[in-house]
Amino acid sequence: MEDKIKKAAELIKDSNYIVAFTGAGISTESGIPDFRSPGGLWERYDPSIYAEISSFLSHPEKYWKMHRELSQMVLNAEPNPAHVALADLEHKYGKLKTVITQNVDFLHSRAGNTNVLEIHGSGQTARCLKCNKEFHYTQIQQMLEEEQYVPRCPHPCYGLIKTNTILFGEQLPWDVLDQAREEILAADLLIIIGSSLLVYPAAALPSLAQQSGTRLIIINMEPTMMDSYANVVLHSKAGKILPKVFEAFESLINDS
Ligand code: NAD
Repeated sequence: MEDKIKKAAELIKDSNYIVAFTGAGISTESGIPDFRSPGGLWERYDPSIYAEISSFLSHPEKYWKMHRELSQMVLNAEPNPAHVALADLEHKYGKLKTVITQNVDFLHSRAGNTNVLEIHGSGQTARCLKCNKEFHYTQIQQMLEEEQYVPRCPHPCYGLIKTNTILFGEQLPWDVLDQAREEILAADLLIIIGSSLLVYPAAALPSLAQQSGTRLIIINMEPTMMDSYANVVLHSKAGKILPKVFEAFESLINDS
């Protein structure tokens, strides 16, 4: 493991335009479960039913039931050492240019990263599907606390409100996806953290990096389909290993 940490640190030292691609795994150490953790939220709320657009439209109460639990977890969560290491890589060294995330928990922004592309949207805002009025999540929380099981736009519109997260069956925001592709093509190193790389089209972005010859570091608890293409693979908890990689990188900088 020490050799791999050193190799990852060297890759970071030799790169000037680093992009991070993150998934639910980077936030599990902040207390937000990924889709595959045993005993987690998603065992009770199958995402293919509870996080799917047609079931949201026909049974919004199901989505909001799940959302009540998930939003409590997100609101109680704090950025963990992996989020902080990415913020340091941007602010202390200017090496990290962009974070492309599949997460909707806004922990990267809260950690301090400034250029965060949320390709699956964000739970920070919601909007009325009828009049498009936007709501901040604090307003939604208030509606839920007032026992509104399905938040609706205030009278007279009374439209259904939906968080600005992308549900299964919905199109990704193409402008954000285009920016993500541009960043991937500009990158000289892509660090992939906490993603099973099974959810498309998001998972096509690391493949694009690999096809364009970008060097890859993968940090994930379990193997992914991209492991054989990566320069370094670290099967470990992101919150434990990323600070170690960052420390090793700082030692290399201080020694040179
Ligand atoms: P995923 O659940 O498919 O995969 C997560 C991966 O992270 C797994 O391979 C797991 O082994 C790994 N992992 C778990 N904990 C880890 C840790 N501490 N360190 C390193 N690796 C760890 O997640 P995905 O690939 O992001 O795709 C699933 C979808 O889930 C995405 O669309 C995302 O929007 C959504 N999601 C988001 C959140 C969130 O915002 N925090 C939470 C759950 C699901």
